[in-house]
Amino acid sequence: MERKCLDCGCTIRGRTDKKFCSDQCRNNYNNKLNRDTNNFMRNVHGLLRKNRRILADLYLEERFRIHKDALFALGYNFSFFTHLIETSDGTQYHYCFEYGYRETGDDFIELKQNSKYLEYQ
Ligand SMILES: [Zn+2]
Repeated sequence: MERKCLDCGCTIRGRTDKKFCSDQCRNNYNNKLNRDTNNFMRNVHGLLRKNRRILADLYLEERFRIHKDALFALGYNFSFFTHLIETSDGTQYHYCFEYGYRETGDDFIELKQNSKYLEYQ
C-alpha cells in the first residue's frame, strides 16, 4: 500500500513505519499541532481570566449576591471554571481560581473567596 506524508501528502519511500517524507515535513506537522493546542489553551485561559476578573470585581465591591443574568450581561461564561468544590453539606461551588460561587436556586449566585489552595488537596 502506498503511504502518504502526513504533512505534504507526497508518497513516502523507505521504512514502512515512516509517516513523513522528510524531517522538514515532520517539523511542520508537529509545529502545526502545537500551534493549535497553544491557541486552544490561550483562548480557554483568556475566558477563565475574564471570568475571574468579573467575580473579583464584584467581590471587591462587596456584591456577594448577584442575579445570574447580571453576571451574564457582564460577559461571564458559566461553562468555564477551574474547579468544583463540594462542601460537607453537599453545596457545590464553581471556582475560577480563588473566586467561587454557589447557585442559591432562585437564579441568584452567592460569591465566595478562598485562596487557601491546600484545602483542596
Ligand atoms: Zn512531506
